[in-house]
Amino acid sequence: MVIGAGSGGLAAAKRAASHGARVAVVEGDRVGGTCVIRGCVPKKLLVYGSAYQHLLADAPSYGWSVGPAQCAPSKLLAAVRAEVDRLNGLHIGFLERAGVELVTGWGRFLDAHHLEVVGRDGSSDGSRRILCGERLLIATGGRPHRPSIPGAELGWVSDDMFLLEGLPQRVLIVGGGFIACEFACILRGLGVEVDQFVRGDHLLRGFDRELSAAVHEGMEADGITIHFAQTLTAITGKPGELIATTCQGRAEPCGGVLLATGRQPFLSGLNLAAAGVGVDGGRIPVDAAQCTNVPHIFAVGDVTDRINLTPVAVDEGRAFADSIYGGRARQVDHDLVASAVFSQPELATVGLSEEEAIARFGSDGIRLYRTRFRSMAQALPQRGPRCLLKLVVEVASDRVLGCHMVGEHAAEIIQMAAIAIGMGATKADFDRTMALHPTVAEEFVTMPQ
Ligand code: NDP
Repeated sequence: MVIGAGSGGLAAAKRAASHGARVAVVEGDRVGGTCVIRGCVPKKLLVYGSAYQHLLADAPSYGWSVGPAQCAPSKLLAAVRAEVDRLNGLHIGFLERAGVELVTGWGRFLDAHHLEVVGRDGSSDGSRRILCGERLLIATGGRPHRPSIPGAELGWVSDDMFLLEGLPQRVLIVGGGFIACEFACILRGLGVEVDQFVRGDHLLRGFDRELSAAVHEGMEADGITIHFAQTLTAITGKPGELIATTCQGRAEPCGGVLLATGRQPFLSGLNLAAAGVGVDGGRIPVDAAQCTNVPHIFAVGDVTDRINLTPVAVDEGRAFADSIYGGRARQVDHDLVASAVFSQPELATVGLSEEEAIARFGSDGIRLYRTRFRSMAQALPQRGPRCLLKLVVEVASDRVLGCHMVGEHAAEIIQMAAIAIGMGATKADFDRTMALHPTVAEEFVTMPQ
């Protein structure tokens, strides 16, 4: 019995069914979870939509006459919702075809084998069912965290962005992480005036500092105002006409505030205590086989709060199913997981940042290779952010420890580089690779020794 029909739960359920298990998935919200319904997929569509701003700005340099172009965000938002509806339907169909029973409602443990499932509105009415599972998989994901400031309920969290019918003239964003940066760029591209409040002194904490600086430079060049060492302390007003107070006491009028201040495992309502499942720091700890402290109860994905990325949840779900039902014991490798921030410019990375490599090998133990340039696509427009490509190499072994990029197609390029890094490629292996010219990625194999 799987609780949660997001990326991890769906992957586990279908794989277990393919191995012959009888499987039910319990879901109180829409099938698809964060990634499909209110995360990666609709976000990326909005990124594509907002990026037309750059294409339109560049078009005259290539001889195109473009009349006054205007975006109707309400049309884009509606189109994205329609696509999400289509994908939601597809995923329900995938479950049916896999022979997995979908039980609609919120699951609550009664004991270590029984789950009470109540209707979507939470009421214990006629739709109440009691289900019994030999094994249970908790895959309930995460939810956005709302900071405890007065008026926080007036702000949006990322879930709300996908439900908007239109966009206001000015939006304030709190946070400097993935979601804050991605939405700052989306909104700016769609013509919104954006101010971003970051409590630290740089964006994207945890990423290589040089990469974060390159993203910062590009975002500011696009007209996003970023305030470091600042946050909001209160929000007042009514929807659409808000006043946010900054920690410096300024009153900032705006049409919306996006609180992008992190996510937390979604445990509320599960009644884990009844099943004896341990919780530590708000997350469910699991071992390498995804097993909780209760031998027949497992957990995958964001609810375990390790690497909160869709492909990781999917792999954890499949590894669980293969190990338990497929007779192929397998553990997920959480090392060298590539990640990307779909900011504009885009950032993607695999392996150790410069700071992490120095901490592990010492500054004499690593060599850095980097190049910054304006890509050929920008040769005629002569604008736009400069690309940054960076390799972190271990001196002793010549092994590439980290491969990082900011710029066009960064995520697509790093996806392929991740194969080489995972295989232990050295700088000499990179250099031996014939360049594919003219491309941006060729710079990775032509950096002088
Ligand atoms: P992040 O952890 O990336 O960023 C949270 C940001 O909010 C940080 O800048 C943090 O500051 C700041 N913050 C936290 N609490 C407060 C507060 N009380 N007041 C002011 N600022 C605060 O979280 P996100 O919500 O952006 O994303 C959550 C996770 O979702 C990511 O870690 C990632 O795993 C996943 N994700 C992945 C994406 C992708 O793959 N492209 C896209 C979106 C999400 P500080 O740094 O100082 O703690």
